[in-house]
Amino acid sequence: MENRWSDDEARALVERYGERGVSEDVALRVYSSRLIGRDATLVLHGGGNTSVKTSMPDDTGRETPVLCVKGSGWDLGDIEPEGLPAVRLEPLLALRERDALSDEEMVNAQRTRLLDASAPNPSVETLLHAFLPHRFVDHSHAEAILCLVDQPDAEALCREVFGDRLGIVPYVMPGFALAKLAAEVYEKDPSVEGLVLLRHGLFSFGDTARESYERHVSAVDAAEARVRAAQPSPPPPAAHEPDVDPSALLPVLRGCLGDEGRRYVLHVRSSPALRAFANDPRVADLSQRGVATPDHVIRTKRFPLLLDAAKGADAQTLRSHVAERVAAYRAEYRAYVERQAPRAAQAITPLDPDPRVVLVPGLGVVTAGASEKAARVAADLYEQTVDVIRGAEAVGRYEVLDEADLFDMEYWSLEQAKLGKAAPRPLAGRVVLVTGAASGIGAATARRFAAAGAHLWLVDRAEEPLQALGDELGPGLCGIDPVDVTDEAAVRASVQRAVARFGGLDGCVSNAGSAPQGAMADLETAALEHSLRINLLAHQFVASALVQVLRLQGTGGFLLFNASKAAFNPGPEFGPYAIAKAALVALMRQYALEGGADGIRANAVNADRVRTGLLPEQIVRERAAARGLEPGDYFRSNLLRREVTADDVADAFLALALAESTTGSVATVDGGNIAAAPR
Ligand code: ZN
Repeated sequence: MENRWSDDEARALVERYGERGVSEDVALRVYSSRLIGRDATLVLHGGGNTSVKTSMPDDTGRETPVLCVKGSGWDLGDIEPEGLPAVRLEPLLALRERDALSDEEMVNAQRTRLLDASAPNPSVETLLHAFLPHRFVDHSHAEAILCLVDQPDAEALCREVFGDRLGIVPYVMPGFALAKLAAEVYEKDPSVEGLVLLRHGLFSFGDTARESYERHVSAVDAAEARVRAAQPSPPPPAAHEPDVDPSALLPVLRGCLGDEGRRYVLHVRSSPALRAFANDPRVADLSQRGVATPDHVIRTKRFPLLLDAAKGADAQTLRSHVAERVAAYRAEYRAYVERQAPRAAQAITPLDPDPRVVLVPGLGVVTAGASEKAARVAADLYEQTVDVIRGAEAVGRYEVLDEADLFDMEYWSLEQAKLGKAAPRPLAGRVVLVTGAASGIGAATARRFAAAGAHLWLVDRAEEPLQALGDELGPGLCGIDPVDVTDEAAVRASVQRAVARFGGLDGCVSNAGSAPQGAMADLETAALEHSLRINLLAHQFVASALVQVLRLQGTGGFLLFNASKAAFNPGPEFGPYAIAKAALVALMRQYALEGGADGIRANAVNADRVRTGLLPEQIVRERAAARGLEPGDYFRSNLLRREVTADDVADAFLALALAESTTGSVATVDGGNIAAAPR
């Protein structure tokens, strides 16, 4: 691996942080932590941890020996000094006298010794860092190291590769027992430059940040050389392109995972290496041996679900194949929990039995997560797992922890304690398409749905404001698609892109519209046709494309339409609009009627007098004047005397999205207007 240490960069960072009062020790700790964190072959997604032993004044001004160690929630790649909470070192060292310490006691011992009570939790490997005497300690799950430690004869192999440079620590789950064992291994030969933890990863240490980092690099180099020697050139990845169309598979798979309350976002990863692995004749064996390093089990489960080639299967065959495999995976998972739970010290709350990684021949992997981010993390980890499996198989045989050890990690008491703490948001894991999303009611609705936990597919003709909204909500939460909803083929293609991005959809807010005017007797037919196209047909295009996806998923879903007061209470010279909106309400009812058996609900919101781009200022003034009102009073001329906002309409859409027993209904949002009440 590349040694990325640069004295110039290190010095620049020391100076920059020095101006903020950060010590040289901590600044250098930040510097080389980032070097490790930014190398994806060393650590991924919060894995790995680093520390420095230094001193700083406590709140009495007394210089106090501390361990600054990675805090949970921080990633080494972009860590800041605040991500290295300072823990008083002496009381940590005193803990070594204990025979045992539960994880809860350990967390408490670490938290109560923090200099700053608001700091994040110090890493669960804090005591391991503390018990080693060196000033700088670095820990990673380097791929090349995993290729050597995930072997039946890992110890002999590590001796062969590292000689006496590294101590070898047998597998023990992270925590107090591992910290003590690692210290004992170190003390047997204090000349070692680091420790290799079987089935887990690498620790290096030194008196300076550079020494510890360079020892890390040198150990990884040696491991890489050993893997390369066994595998002179990596196997040529499958050259062919993916030959499975994910658009048919994804909704079916998504519908088979989760349950009423739990839905997943799916992510497709189709790199040549993953496709080659999914197509490998040995995949059924290699993929079912387990994770490359224990903490992956929390994000990827022990092993992936395997599907047979999905190519060419008709919808019914595909559905029954996927349903059967998912059911078998779940049954196996439940049996594993039943086998292992009795060993646990405390009662176990079973986790959901769904796979997080699905191997699809001809495609690669599809990963599932409560969010797109979680699904991408699982894909990253699995991509690394495949590299480790390849490397380990070249060197010898890929073999990882047994079921009991993996269970202990997956059902770790600290992870179990997190369950149920944060209530999931009502639309978590749901994907919702919003049209006319760039402004007004559409944008307000997108924001409301995002706050409720939904992932969003935002459609609008206006690309720039759409992009701005996408940036505001976060690219990990929404996709934007500049599409004209009056173009049926474009709408269908957009829905397919949403499926490719998130794995499926759960509902829509069909909102895009325009408000043309004209007296019917004098109206040109083209003007009426145009209104019917945008205010009626476009809704039909969105709804019918969405229903196709919902049927493939078999999960039900919701169709929400933006109707208007004009549908029930037309105004003069608003015919082209009112007629289309009245027909839209009929369309909604038709979908309610025909979708009910599939759990597909259809509802509409009937809003009035909302200030949006649909009503130009000039028209507002004219309409207000016609009623003898100022524009502001015009908007408040309702029973509640309050102006109805786009947010009020968004609230109604959200309420209808969540109203599981409501279909065929119109929610009125107009501040109260009995004369215009639907009848
Ligand atoms: Zn670790």
